[in-house]
Amino acid sequence: MIEIKDLHKSYAIGKSSLHVLKGINISIKEGELVAIMGSSGSGKSTLLNILGMLDVAEEGTYTLDGVEIKDLNETKAAKYRNKFLGFVFQSFNLINYKTAIENVALPLYYQKVPRKERHKKAMQYLTKVGLADWSGHLPSELSGGQKQRIAIARALAAQPKVLLADEPTGALDSTTSYEVMQLIQEINDEGKTILVVTHEDDIAQMCKRIVLLKDGLIIEDKEVNQIRASDHV
Ligand code: ADP
Ligand code: MG
Repeated sequence: MIEIKDLHKSYAIGKSSLHVLKGINISIKEGELVAIMGSSGSGKSTLLNILGMLDVAEEGTYTLDGVEIKDLNETKAAKYRNKFLGFVFQSFNLINYKTAIENVALPLYYQKVPRKERHKKAMQYLTKVGLADWSGHLPSELSGGQKQRIAIARALAAQPKVLLADEPTGALDSTTSYEVMQLIQEINDEGKTILVVTHEDDIAQMCKRIVLLKDGLIIEDKEVNQIRASDHV
């Protein structure tokens, strides 16, 4: 599903440059649930943003679902992004003046799905994340865990091939974090490929594979016996 070879990324800071990714090699198959770990500043978000086509690397190759992601113009990049990738962020990134169902329906709007169909699909995904009763509520009326569920429903509504989550539990207490991880595990059980950036070991253990970043390189990449979040909640 994802194939990355010798990826390098630097940021320009004034006249100098910061070499953040120094030759990343990774291959991720369909259906995997991968944790990307590493200390703060180790380049986790940088890597996820490149995988998510929100940023570009200056060296190396990136193949996503058989398509080499390279030199795409913005229109084409946006098309692939919408078709292949769903995003979940630590800070939820919901639109505050839109209700739960409107937030979930948004990617469908961009996919030009007709209004009625949009509403129906959005409701299906809200039901899937256990929030059908909250469809008319604004984000400000929801708890952190509920907001993250809405964000996950929104990401899924576009039916992406890969779900990319950058510290999805970073703003949540541990009980709520485990509930969100339980949902992520259920979605993965259905076959969705998911990457989760985290710096919490208990969250990483709920994935099936842990990739450890340090000083711009992958220093460890191992399969783990997945701990089920439902054992904790
Ligand atoms: P992590 O997510 O692991 O905490 P990041 O990928 O966000 O790390 O950042 C890696 C390094 O790159 C950090 O030193 C950070 O300060 C730097 N960095 C990230 N984004 C930018 C940017 N847009 N411009 C300059 N430096 C950046
Ligand atoms: Mg980060």
